[in-house]
Amino acid sequence: MNAELAEVQTQQVASATRVLVVDDEVRMLSSLEALLKFKNYSVDTALGGQAACQLLAQNQYDLLLLDLNMGDFDGYAVMAFMADKGIDVVTVVVSGETAFDAVRKALRMGASDYVKKPYSPEELFATIDSTMHKKSLRDERDRYQSHVRESEALYRYIVDRSPDIVFLLNNEGMFSFSNSQMESLLGYDSGQLLGLPFVQLLEKPHRQVLELFDSSNVPVSAEGVHNIELCLNHHSDSGDKKYFELTLFPVQTDIMGVVSNLEFSSSASDRVTAGGGDAFAGFYGTARDITERKKSERLIRFQAYHDLLTELPNRSLFNDRLKLAIAHARRHSQMLAVMFLDLDRFKSVNDTFGHAVGDRLLKTVVNRLQKCLREGDTLSRFGGDEFVLLLPEVNGEEVVQSIAEKIIKTVKQPFELEGQDVFVGISIGVALYPEYGGNLDALIKNADIAMYQAKKRGKNGYCLFNEAMSSDISHSIKLESELHRALENDELRVFYQPQLCAKTQTIVGVEALVRWQHPERGLVPPGEFIALAEETKLIVEIGEWVLQRACQEVKSWMDQGVGPIRLAVNFSSLQVERPNLVDTVIDTLERYQFPPRYFELEITESVMMNDLEGMVSKLQKLADYGVEVAIDDFGTGYSSLSYLHRLPIHTVKVDQSFVRNIQTPDVEVSIVNAICAMAHGLKLKIIAEGVETQIQHDYLSNLGCEEMQGYLISRPLPGDEVLDFLREREA
Ligand code: C2E
Ligand code: MG
Ligand code: MG
Repeated sequence: MNAELAEVQTQQVASATRVLVVDDEVRMLSSLEALLKFKNYSVDTALGGQAACQLLAQNQYDLLLLDLNMGDFDGYAVMAFMADKGIDVVTVVVSGETAFDAVRKALRMGASDYVKKPYSPEELFATIDSTMHKKSLRDERDRYQSHVRESEALYRYIVDRSPDIVFLLNNEGMFSFSNSQMESLLGYDSGQLLGLPFVQLLEKPHRQVLELFDSSNVPVSAEGVHNIELCLNHHSDSGDKKYFELTLFPVQTDIMGVVSNLEFSSSASDRVTAGGGDAFAGFYGTARDITERKKSERLIRFQAYHDLLTELPNRSLFNDRLKLAIAHARRHSQMLAVMFLDLDRFKSVNDTFGHAVGDRLLKTVVNRLQKCLREGDTLSRFGGDEFVLLLPEVNGEEVVQSIAEKIIKTVKQPFELEGQDVFVGISIGVALYPEYGGNLDALIKNADIAMYQAKKRGKNGYCLFNEAMSSDISHSIKLESELHRALENDELRVFYQPQLCAKTQTIVGVEALVRWQHPERGLVPPGEFIALAEETKLIVEIGEWVLQRACQEVKSWMDQGVGPIRLAVNFSSLQVERPNLVDTVIDTLERYQFPPRYFELEITESVMMNDLEGMVSKLQKLADYGVEVAIDDFGTGYSSLSYLHRLPIHTVKVDQSFVRNIQTPDVEVSIVNAICAMAHGLKLKIIAEGVETQIQHDYLSNLGCEEMQGYLISRPLPGDEVLDFLREREA
């Protein structure tokens, strides 16, 4: 650079530099001003300290040339003023003062340099230049430092605000940095972790992670990015698991600035080196909390294979397990059983108490069922009140039977719902592998068919599938469609079975019993179609038809001078549970002008099991109207005596199965005896059903049984025949 150019540049710098010259001698002031102006500086002057302070307060200066000894308001006072007001101007003391203490004091108070009067212009300008140069260096450094500080704050902000844990491991696998998420997610503050080996955070040894570290937890894999899903321990050891998606990037020593922060020990970095030649320095890692995602994944997986209400396996999981069990059974030539379970009367619980209570019942049923199972059995819910049970490795039918019996027994116990004891039964169908179903579909289908049979046989029981049932099923499908037609085509008939008063030996009543005059099959007894009619709800229509028909017919006999006799009509539980039961009965009796006191409603015990209160109120209304109520088939149902005294009942009909046991005159038939004693205790009338022999008649008569019904007296007869029968007996 030539001297001329340098001079021009210096002048430019000088003209941009504002200088304040302070002295208490006018001569000194003007000579300095002239000198500086000659060098192109822009100059202000202040005569004495006070004037200097005023100018400093008003203007911005780059340089202050300050005399020290200025009477009352000296250079120190100016510097004190500047310190007080925070005015930062590079200050060069220009003074005749030579005492070392004075100079030191000036420098301590902020002066940058010192020029002694008298001075040569060269000396002055050399000092000014070097001071200004130093200042520009210092400014530069300050600017740089503040930039670094800002940048560091920005990066720390970014790292700490990251939703993920961000950390660094040194090449010994120890934490050398972690962001604040480490504390919020895992409870470690960053200080605690420094120097701890990463593997200590693993919930349990994790193969993929351990492959990255050697036996002393030192990282050995210097290549590639590693993505691993794993569980990390919370510092508190609270036990709640947190899942993370971990990403580890190997760090090489050439990464600017990172190396020194990682504090790598030279010995360790000697041990591990990356393929490229750069020393492997450890890992930079991020860990993303994926606990929620894992939870929802688990839930979705669970939902796909389970029933959410009972948490039992659903149909697809059951099918998987059954397939495996079949394969296993085939290989080891073993038996297995599939049980189809269906609750009896669940629908009426649901209708009476609502779905929430129904759901609770299902859960309680499942609890009870599970207590009957062996380890390895699979109970699943197929929907509604249908459950399917897989019993692998069964050694013979007896095992299956005993489990079925256990299940029936436990479900038979009352359930407490809304403060009431509710009884539900369960019907079970069983299909055994390999005999009655060689594959999944056949086994489930056959178990279902067997369950259907169990229902037909009166519910609350079990049935083992056999081939005859398949044809039975197709038979009942046909029957169902025919039964619909039976009503339309007027194929139903009412038969009447006379009832005898034991004391007077006269006929006091008849029971109406339905028959089906089938166009091809002839007269079909109710046992063959009532269950199906109940299942398809056709029983409601059939029952109403029987009621009307019987009232009409029996009333016409009475009008012809027979009797009067009592008419008993059977009501299915579906009919009784209908809200319009009372109206239906009363309307019909009124329509045919049938005297209510000669009408008897026959219901079975099971009707009473749900909604006892509702039933009491309905029956009471009917009883108030004058109608009698009889409990049919007494002793075969739940035989809970507790409800009997609460109901407006007049008659108990002893089931024929008990009567059948009376075979010789001298037997002690304890159940019949007990029923009679109890009924009399409750002041109820007793009718014995199925009386076929004189022995039975006499035995029952001795027990005080008021009325008898059975083949001994008469079979059920069509209307015209029973009318003849009645006339004959009256004659
Ligand atoms: P139930 O009400 O207990 O009727 C008595 C059953 O016993 C009748 O069978 C009758 O024929 C039979 N029986 C009478 N005396 C004797 C006897 O001495 N020995 C034997 N072994 N059996 C005798 P049925 O007519 O086949 O009816 C069967 C069941 O069908 C009835 O049992 C009743 O529960 C039901 N049922 C019949 N008609 C109707 C109806 O109109 N509505 C409803 N809901 N159910 C009906
Ligand atoms: Mg009956
Ligand atoms: Mg009966």
